[in-house]
Order: sequence, then C-alpha cells, then structure tokens
Amino acid sequence: MQRLLPGMNDMGRKTKNRKFKEIPGFDPQRRSFLGAMAAAAGVTLAPGVMLYGIARTSPAKARALDAAVSSDVRWGMLIDLGRCDNGCDDCVTACATENGIGGHGRPATDAQWIRKIEVSDPQTGASKSLPMMCQHCADPPCVDVCPTGASFKRADGIVLVDKHTCIGCRYCMMACPYKARSFVHEVLEDQKPHAPRGKGTVESCTMCVHRIDVGGDPACVEACSDTGGGAMLFGDLNDPDSEISKRVATYATQQIRADLGLDPGVRYRNL
Ligand code: SF4
Ligand code: SF4
Repeated sequence: MQRLLPGMNDMGRKTKNRKFKEIPGFDPQRRSFLGAMAAAAGVTLAPGVMLYGIARTSPAKARALDAAVSSDVRWGMLIDLGRCDNGCDDCVTACATENGIGGHGRPATDAQWIRKIEVSDPQTGASKSLPMMCQHCADPPCVDVCPTGASFKRADGIVLVDKHTCIGCRYCMMACPYKARSFVHEVLEDQKPHAPRGKGTVESCTMCVHRIDVGGDPACVEACSDTGGGAMLFGDLNDPDSEISKRVATYATQQIRADLGLDPGVRYRNL
C-alpha cells in the first residue's frame, strides 16, 4: 500500500508529494486494538499505577495524512532505567532491523543509531545501563553548525539529516555532546525504503519518523514493550493529557547533561 502525503518530503520538509510505504511489522489495526484494551483496563488501576502496555498504547495522535507537521506536538521519550536490564539490547536490535543498519566489522566506526552504555556513580559505584540515541534537542547544536542546512529540526521536535544536502563535513558529529551521530563510510546495500541512507553522509536516530507519522511507536519502544523490560515510553510532551507528560509531571525525571541547556526530548527516570 502506498500513501501520498501532500505538503512534505520524506524528511518533513515542504514539497509537492510525500510517499509512505507499509511498515514491515507495524500493524495499525493491532495498535488500535491494544489501545482499546488499554482504555478498558485502565479504569481498574489505582491512580499513578499504570502497566507499561497501557502507557505505550495511549493515543500517539497520528496527524491527518494531509496535515503539515505541527509545533503543537513535541514528540519525546521517557526511559525508565529501573526497568532497563544490563543484559538487554532489544532496542538496539530492533533499531538495526527497522532501519537496515548492519555492521561492517568495525565497531569504532560502524553506524549506530542507538547504543547501550553503562553509567556509574564514582562515589557509590552503583551503575545503570542506559539506552543512548539522538536526544532530539529543542536547541540542537548539530543544527546550528551545519553549513548547508542538512541538519534540521522539524516543527514537532524531531531532529533529522537531509542526506541529499549533507556534504559529509561532520561538523554536526563534533557538535553533538551525546555522540549520537554516525558517518556512513561504506557503500550500502539492502536499504529499507523508509530509511534511505548514503555513503558519505551523517545519520542518527530519526525517532522512527516513518512510523510516528502514521500513528505508530518507534521500533525500539515497541520492542522494549514486547520483549524487553517495558522501559521506553513514547508520546507528546506538549500534551498535558499524554501518558508521557503525566509521568514527567509526576515523577522525578532527568535530562542527560541538562546543564548544557539543550532541552532534550528524551528523558530518563531512575538515573
Ligand atoms: Fe543533534 Fe546530538 Fe542533540 Fe541529536 S543529540 S539533536 S544529533 S545535538
Ligand atoms: Fe532507532 Fe527508531 Fe528507536 Fe530512534 S526511535 S533509536 S531510529 S528504533
């Protein structure tokens, strides 16, 4: 099935037509079904006590297919490190599968849109396993330094790279304090139609924009819910009624390197 979205190109910029293809493994009907189940089950739970499956299927507000990306929405994630197991990398595997990211046997330079890192408190020695990807900063330095405008932020907060105008200078990689971007060194084969990539360009997590724009969840969030610890929650940070906003308002959450003032859209809990 192919859908045309007038008004935006595949990077969320204005153009004449926008094409979407069916997403392997993503079933909007299943999502609706789970959402209905969640709504039914939600009333039986005490306030503040939410099963993860319920949270994940709270409405993600798919925009109308002919609607432009709007700043009314700010997409974000909340990752509960209390549920993120050291040995689990289901989010990493799901991202690679979803976006066609394979290694070339060179871990130091192979592209990686999400990775697990260990952080530890030097005083207590306590450590946490933490998924790290592009933080979709509200004030992204990668965008500031890009000489061609290839690095850009959509109105809904998703930060992307337009590979057609990226010249591979890698300024954005140096500017990103989270080391969230990768450079593609090799000619790539077997690419996914919804995530085209290119040798000589920079790339990073797209927040699975191809899924979000049709009302789905990012692949890592879905995998974390299905087979991982249920640590990842995706939603609209601008909507006070969204599950993510309620949790951010209710619990202590953290932004990585909040001191930099970049206002990341990815938030953490139990860090
Ligand atoms: Fe840019 Fe890095 Fe922030 Fe992502 S995490 S928006 S790549 S500065
Ligand atoms: Fe990868 Fe999508 Fe998760 Fe970003 S949101 S880390 S692109 S699976």
